[in-house]
Amino acid sequence: MSPRETYDVIVIGGGSAAFEAAISAKTAGAGRVVMLEKAPETEFGGNARFSHTGFRFVHSGAKEIREFVPDLDEATFQRMHVPPYTHENFLADLNRVTQGQIDPVLADAFVGQSNAAVHWMKDIGIKWEMEKTIEVDNKLYFEPGINIHPIGGGLGLLLALREIALKHGIEIRYDSKVRAVHGNERQIDGVRVSAPSGEYDLDGRAVICCSGGFQASAEMRARYLGTNTDFLRVRGSKHNTGEVLQAMLAIGAKAAGHWQGAHMTPIDSAAPAVETPLLEGGKGNSMNRYDYPYSITVNNLGLRFYDEGEAKHSYTYAKTGRAVLAQPGASAFQIYDQTGVDLFRRGRNYTATVFEADTIAELAKKIGIEPAVLVHTVEEFNAACRKDVPFDPRKLDGKCTVGISPPKSHWAEPIVRPPFRAYQVTAGITFTFGGLQVDTKAQVINTGHRAIHGLFASGDVVGLFFHNYPSCTGQTRNAVFSYLAGRNAAALQN
Ligand SMILES: Cc1cc2nc3c(=O)[nH]c(=O)nc-3n(C[C@H](O)[C@H](O)[C@H](O)COP(=O)(O)OP(=O)(O)OC[C@H]3O[C@@H](n4cnc5c(N)ncnc54)[C@H](O)[C@@H]3O)c2cc1C
Repeated sequence: MSPRETYDVIVIGGGSAAFEAAISAKTAGAGRVVMLEKAPETEFGGNARFSHTGFRFVHSGAKEIREFVPDLDEATFQRMHVPPYTHENFLADLNRVTQGQIDPVLADAFVGQSNAAVHWMKDIGIKWEMEKTIEVDNKLYFEPGINIHPIGGGLGLLLALREIALKHGIEIRYDSKVRAVHGNERQIDGVRVSAPSGEYDLDGRAVICCSGGFQASAEMRARYLGTNTDFLRVRGSKHNTGEVLQAMLAIGAKAAGHWQGAHMTPIDSAAPAVETPLLEGGKGNSMNRYDYPYSITVNNLGLRFYDEGEAKHSYTYAKTGRAVLAQPGASAFQIYDQTGVDLFRRGRNYTATVFEADTIAELAKKIGIEPAVLVHTVEEFNAACRKDVPFDPRKLDGKCTVGISPPKSHWAEPIVRPPFRAYQVTAGITFTFGGLQVDTKAQVINTGHRAIHGLFASGDVVGLFFHNYPSCTGQTRNAVFSYLAGRNAAALQN
């Protein structure tokens, strides 16, 4: 039997959190660093492969954002409306959407280091481009804090990170599933790997766990997330099935985050069970249906069931999938008139299960809803829309409904301009919120509330969010905690 190999740092996973942790460790002086990726090389990279990977982070406004896109032409720059996104803004967003349940110490550390972490990514060689956004009167209006994403989207990011990792001499083993961890609640010693050629053990002075959430395991979804969550469509990688998370809990790691909660979004009803395809050029998931603030959504009975205009979609989309899942048949229809259709985000050619008609009654027949009910829902909604407040898609316009339930808090514009459209949606899961407890050094904490020596974690495997999630926070969280994990793992060797 060959002797067990020893690595200074073992990184579990092959997604963006894993690459960033490995690069951080190596550039901080760690010796032998290996990444163990469960997926074969052709499928490496976890969830980022299926995303355009926007980054939300604290910044001082247009001038700073331009540092990330040095080739941006002056004319476009002058049309951009990019207000600063402050520490207070980001923290308030996290606190509001998690209903005050996010760990305050971790949230403050995360927000406080978000700017430095994204600059670090630029400094190691990641190239960026501007987000696609809403255009009104020739001005480009961005969601607060979300302005840039890596060139080439998620796959572009992964390919760039891999090139940087290989240049630094980091070893990547594909088809290498970690199926057990060695250690106890005091210290991590290494991992057991299942590879096509058989099983073997690796010793590690430090282990950084970046194995993602458990959203691709129908059994774990049903166990933790509740009724009918096993029917969810999985938007991302099929490889995130939670076995490393379970192994960590088994040695005594402490659980954190919302174990019945997950990022769930409305997606086209034709989405496959797993791994929804990307738009051309990696510009995001092709089956997203996020324009609902400019529509009403009804269930199969023809009834509205949530406040479509509570806030910008970036603050509501991650909980709207759960609302759709709870409807009969886990299905709903977004109903638009031409005012809504004109506001669809520009340049995005989404796949759509769509029905069109000149009247609401005809539309109802096409989608199998009793026409009298849908006509009543639309007329009741139209009559309840405030007429004294102007409609303004650039901001929370306060144009709400009065006297109906559920209300629509903003952008309540009557649905009157034919042809009318109905987009059929269901619920897709992005990632789970329950995971490992870490501290501000990215060390994994045990159920005795002490750090497990040598064990760190970053990415979706960290339990951080509750109820909901502000869009484009996952990648920034990866950068912050992976940077910390890599630095602190490397410090153990020195
Ligand atoms: C469609 C979609 C759109 C998104 N859009 C955005 C966005 O715009 N902005 C944003 O911030 N976030 C976005 N996200 C979320 C973001 O992609 C994730 O938060 C992020 O990718 C998580 O990174 P990770 O490295 O922790 O997990 P992953 O990228 O999922 O990587 C986990 C890795 O662990 C590996 N693994 C799993 N089990 C094992 C095992 N037993 N042994 C070894 N390896 C294992 C997997 O193969 C994978 O390589 C999106 C996600 C999806 C699916």
